[in-house]
Amino acid sequence: MKTAKIPAKNVELPIGKIVCLARNYAEHARELGNEAPTVPVLFMKPSSSVIGNCGTVIIPAYSQECHYEVELALLIGSQARDVNTDKALEHVAGYGVAIDMTLRDVQSQLKAKGLPWEIAKGFDTSCPLSDFVTADSVPDPHNLNLKLAVNGKIRQDGCSSDMINNIPQIIAYISSIFTLEPGDVILTGTPAGVGQVVAGDIMTAEIISIGSLTIPVA
Ligand code: MG
Repeated sequence: MKTAKIPAKNVELPIGKIVCLARNYAEHARELGNEAPTVPVLFMKPSSSVIGNCGTVIIPAYSQECHYEVELALLIGSQARDVNTDKALEHVAGYGVAIDMTLRDVQSQLKAKGLPWEIAKGFDTSCPLSDFVTADSVPDPHNLNLKLAVNGKIRQDGCSSDMINNIPQIIAYISSIFTLEPGDVILTGTPAGVGQVVAGDIMTAEIISIGSLTIPVA
């Protein structure tokens, strides 16, 4: 069973559903030729897709184009159903760093056919996820610098202030559809600069004051 850890509080929760936002940063939507949405675009990854720091991403044989997307991850600490934006942050137990690994070639084919994305987004090892810091140790989750480097070269360098839907809006919207439960994780979307990795590459992702990931690709 995959777990989410908040070491500072000695908390370890079994990971539930992982709800992810697509196109939550305007520049990233543009770089893939998508319109910036007003209502969040959601998809999910299974908990089986999670690997921890220093885990290896294994690109499935059915893809020739695997992309990285660094994202701010939220860990839900208490049940949330239909919550208002003014109460939404109370349900966040911690913040972490995730990489939403995406088989872009497979996803593009699925999009063209109007089919769901799971095999492009939820395969084993597609969700590198750090430990979490406590929510109360993060004064402003909308002012965090997200960085991802491949083999030491910076590829993504963005700020969570550029989210189209902010964290309270994300939680309010998701909780109007899916009850959020302790151990659920939300990936809040990626800034611009996504690109391909191949076997042998090493990704390093960092959100200063939150955490970092070092993830080789095989
Ligand atoms: Mg993403």
